[in-house]
Amino acid sequence: MFRKIGFRAESTPPAGETAAVPQPEPKLPVRCLVYVRFSGVNKAYAYYNDRFCLKEGDTVFVSGKLAGKPGTVESVQTHFKIRLSDYERILSKAEGDLRGHFEALMDKMVCVDPCVLPPEMFRTWVLPPEEDPEDVLLGEGFTADLNAFEQDDEMPQSALHKGLEMCKGGRVVYVHLQGSTGTAFLSGSVWREVNFTLKNGTVSDLYCSCPYPEDGMCKHMAAVLITLRFLTQCDKLQNTDSYVVLDRNWFWNTVSGTDQVDL
Ligand SMILES: [Zn+2]
Repeated sequence: MFRKIGFRAESTPPAGETAAVPQPEPKLPVRCLVYVRFSGVNKAYAYYNDRFCLKEGDTVFVSGKLAGKPGTVESVQTHFKIRLSDYERILSKAEGDLRGHFEALMDKMVCVDPCVLPPEMFRTWVLPPEEDPEDVLLGEGFTADLNAFEQDDEMPQSALHKGLEMCKGGRVVYVHLQGSTGTAFLSGSVWREVNFTLKNGTVSDLYCSCPYPEDGMCKHMAAVLITLRFLTQCDKLQNTDSYVVLDRNWFWNTVSGTDQVDL
């Protein structure tokens, strides 16, 4: 799990503090060589950067072989002479802090203010920037009844079983609902994004970013449907149609790797 400096989780605001005090972003980006460490890779690799203000602990995405994996900045070197063609680059930096009131709910952590962590922000933490957003086209989405999706003709039994395994493994890391518009992110060798509309127990406009939905709904959709059924049945969320939910292990792993936590 990657480390993110500036991540804050609060049960109550610190005494005397009325509003979040934004940390000033240091100066303009300067040319630098950035040493980045990736989970499962036992050495840090150097990348050229002139676009972002980076410091130790920041989460970044890079070009080259490790594209798509979040990396953690280990050090930033401004004294160098390199041949640019020898280096891959920093493509993006994960943005944003998390400040909000999260409560435990089974294997999840729930905040009823979805603005605390919008999907646009979470996406920068786990996915590289879209190379060509104009290239994304939507066909017809799936529709499913939250109380009966197991019997849906378009729900393969294999997807259902794998979806349940994903739920058990804590891979539905993020669910965001604002009104009826929903987004979920699921961890795996590649993170997947699921989008949906939820109204009166029916999920419609259900899409997944994975390339395998041709035989009906995929395991990611199944995992999200199972999670949504669980969430909509929770007393704590009965009177709201807006919340953000994080997997509990993911939440605590991320918080434990940071150096700014108020609990
Ligand atoms: Zn999928």
